[in-house]
Amino acid sequence: MTKENSIQSSLDFISKKWKIDPKIYDIHLGKRDDLIDTLIQINQVVFHIPKLSNDNLYVIWKCLWPECHNCCEKQGRLPLTQDDITHISKRLGYPSKSEFINEETNTSSWQENDTYGNLITFLTMISLRRKKNENPEEDGYPLKCRFLDNDGYCKIQDDKPGVCWLYPFASWIESRDGKPIVHATFQFTGDCPGYYLSKSIDEMVPILSDYSFKIYNYNMSVSRTIREGLGVTNIIY
Ligand code: SF4
Ligand code: SF4
Repeated sequence: MTKENSIQSSLDFISKKWKIDPKIYDIHLGKRDDLIDTLIQINQVVFHIPKLSNDNLYVIWKCLWPECHNCCEKQGRLPLTQDDITHISKRLGYPSKSEFINEETNTSSWQENDTYGNLITFLTMISLRRKKNENPEEDGYPLKCRFLDNDGYCKIQDDKPGVCWLYPFASWIESRDGKPIVHATFQFTGDCPGYYLSKSIDEMVPILSDYSFKIYNYNMSVSRTIREGLGVTNIIY
């Protein structure tokens, strides 16, 4: 299945339950050529908020949980930071991190793209298996996460991987004058029904503020994970 077909089938799936604006549909499918970035710095993160310039509308987002838990139903990959490995290995009752890594994780590599499909980074990290017997060939394919319970709650909520707190944002670090600048943008994979259009970004500012801390801390944690040999990154953007 091509990437576009896979996004289309994801959109068709979420459309059975949620009303998805046709303009949002087209954005996911890369069919809008009037999408521009609006940069808004909140705390230590620069958010790239897309805007449909022909319609003068911003694309903004809010999470629809607990009615929706599609990101856990169709989870593509769960990369772990050093802190995640410490917390989840303890949570799952492993006497050592190495046993946890052997029994519960795979090593996976992937590329991150921005809203427009441009390549941002390549990353290689240790990833938590989404099902007990997940094999490395399933990396990137959507699977229902084994930690999702029947009521839509995460069974390891307080210790869940840092990446689970970030969706649907993708983020990356830019080095400017030797200082790290963290950027974040939306992922348009067809899996999240929370996007909508608005004339203003204002109503999303409190959400961006909340996420700015999560995103900044996650990126610093990934840097440490890489420094300590539990992953590699290759910044392209
Ligand atoms: S982030 Fe999107 S896909 Fe995940 S629960 Fe919220 S609305 Fe659903
Ligand atoms: S670990 Fe929890 S939050 Fe993360 S995908 Fe699984 S169920 Fe969802």
